Amino acid sequence: MTEKNMSKLISILVPCFNEQDSISGFMATISPVLESLQENVEILFIDDGSTDETLKLLSRLAGQNQQVKVISFSRNFGKEAALTAGLDLVTGDAVIPIDVDLQDPVELIPQMIEKWKAGADVVLARRLDRPSDSFIKRLAVNIFYKLISFLSSTPIPRDVGDYRLMDRKVVDSICLLPERNRFMKGILSWPGYETEVIDFSRPDRATGRSKWRSWKLFNYALDGIFSFSTAPLRMWTYAGLVLSFFSLCYLIFIVAKTLIFGVDLPGYASVVSIILFFSGINLVGLGILGEYLGRVFIEVKQRPVYLIKRKIGFD
Ligand code: UDP
Ligand code: MG
Repeated sequence: MTEKNMSKLISILVPCFNEQDSISGFMATISPVLESLQENVEILFIDDGSTDETLKLLSRLAGQNQQVKVISFSRNFGKEAALTAGLDLVTGDAVIPIDVDLQDPVELIPQMIEKWKAGADVVLARRLDRPSDSFIKRLAVNIFYKLISFLSSTPIPRDVGDYRLMDRKVVDSICLLPERNRFMKGILSWPGYETEVIDFSRPDRATGRSKWRSWKLFNYALDGIFSFSTAPLRMWTYAGLVLSFFSLCYLIFIVAKTLIFGVDLPGYASVVSIILFFSGINLVGLGILGEYLGRVFIEVKQRPVYLIKRKIGFD
């Protein structure tokens, strides 16, 4: 074994939700890579309330492998909560969250660490292509990134997931964010710092299936926009102003027409369509207000983001 640089610790964060089939393959793939590193390594698995054998496998693994630590949630809180817990608990000088399904290529880890040692605080892994995605999904993803970069003041890098290396100071900055709505793409990018990018092409899942469905993805995109921008509220002010202006013009026109040409009763169709149009617009406005109000409601409750049922391997 190569001489280890005892002064630095790399923490690998692995969220797992019902991943009994992925864990052994993941360990087999990542172990040689971690073995080859100069630094010390800890692997923290976060069992996100799995209902299968995941926790049993993980605790067995922690028994065999000194580097492995496990925390287990009291129920499923979602990947965002799992990552939040991981970032709160690890002590590494650099932290790398990675999916257990091998969709994040482990070969990038040494490259990330190289760049980190060369001075980068954040090393992003950027997906070059998504071969398995449908045209519609790719289009939707495109629109999402365009929209959010237009609306939000936090730059959210394109085609970058949670797989990245973060220096200790970046992790500490992220841990300062107390919000309950954990839109991780935004939260991880919020601190900024010296950022480098490595490109890779993302393979399909090795085992099991993704827990993301299109409806969930769509809601996730809305979440991102509402959590990282108040532009939709502002848009409403503009829409109100523009519509009021046109309504006023129309009102003047009608009054003038009535004064000049006398009373003219027909107009049922136009009245109904105007009422319907404005009711629709009002409802959308209320909906957007509701989105923010709902978020404020969740934030003021101040509930914890996750609950830990068990910790293994911590001293
Ligand atoms: N995951 C989790 N909690 C959840 C859903 C997923 O911890 O509620 C984990 C999952 O075990 C995996 C990672 O998050 O390690 C990515 O999940 P998935 O592959 O389903 O998402 P995708 O790769 O499609 O983004
Ligand atoms: Mg996956």
